[in-house]
Amino acid sequence: MIPPIARRFVAGETVPEALDHARAYNDDDIAVILNLLGEHYDDPADARADVDAYLDLLDDVARSELDASISVKPSQIGLDVSAELFEQHYREIVARAHERDAFVWCDMEDAETTDDTLDAFESIANEYPWSVGQCIQSNLKRTREDLERLVDVPGAIRVVKGAYDEPKSIAYTEKSRVNEAYRSDIEYLFEHRDRGVAVGSHDPEMISLANRLGSEYDTDHEIQMLMGVREDAQRDLARQGVDVTQYAPYGNKWLSYFYRRVRERKENVLFALRAIVGR
Ligand code: FAD
Repeated sequence: MIPPIARRFVAGETVPEALDHARAYNDDDIAVILNLLGEHYDDPADARADVDAYLDLLDDVARSELDASISVKPSQIGLDVSAELFEQHYREIVARAHERDAFVWCDMEDAETTDDTLDAFESIANEYPWSVGQCIQSNLKRTREDLERLVDVPGAIRVVKGAYDEPKSIAYTEKSRVNEAYRSDIEYLFEHRDRGVAVGSHDPEMISLANRLGSEYDTDHEIQMLMGVREDAQRDLARQGVDVTQYAPYGNKWLSYFYRRVRERKENVLFALRAIVGR
């Protein structure tokens, strides 16, 4: 069982719990992206098991009529085995989503996976228009060129600052430089697209920028935030009529995800300690 302290960041261990979570946030006009926790499988059987779980989840989501999509990780669905297996699984999941009128996001992992991930996205999005969206990281120096290549592809793009430590040769490593690249990538997307723009950030400055550009360019966009992070802001934005989507992980591999969330902010460490000492 997931302890209450981790439940802030994780929607539950099972599909029914994840669907209940989505329902509760949908009631507050917040859409939900469900991610089955799991990554870096080098055994094809493990990747296959999660692909099957996602196919079933898409069926469940379609039956439930929830405002919910799913998000997969490349290394969860086969990229650590081979690029071919990953693309085959990615395509299979998006094909099912297309059939069910559902939507699939693909997270972006470390920079060694970028080429394989974007190649698969480009090909699959052209095959199943507007059934799939891809995450792109502004801390990578290559990203502007990737955006130029993908800007007319019929798939959504979630732009984030980037969560992986990458070498200086390929990535901006100073926070101010990452923020500058992020602002510029957000502007590029709003200027060049009229739909399919998602800004994945908790940063009030970036969220305001996105909403201002959304009105200026009349671009359909959404703000995506993680479960358990700035949830008051998620609700406030939704009340103001902004499209807000919450990324909610679930499943039994919650422990390492929970540690990651706690480690990334001092306030979260204090929150965890307070919960442990019961004050
Ligand atoms: P930061 O630069 O971390 O913080 C800027 C400001 O935002 C802070 O000063 C504070 O005001 C506010 N803020 C940030 N965090 C908190 C908090 N916990 N509590 C309160 N205020 C806070 N990265 C990837 O590499 N690949 C992915 O596929 C990916 N998918 C993502 C999907 C979603 C929906 C989101 C939200 C993020 C995703 N990320 C992904 C992570 C992303 O790259 C960043 O590492 C992460 O979002 C932190 O950057 P930030 O823009 O939120 O702001």
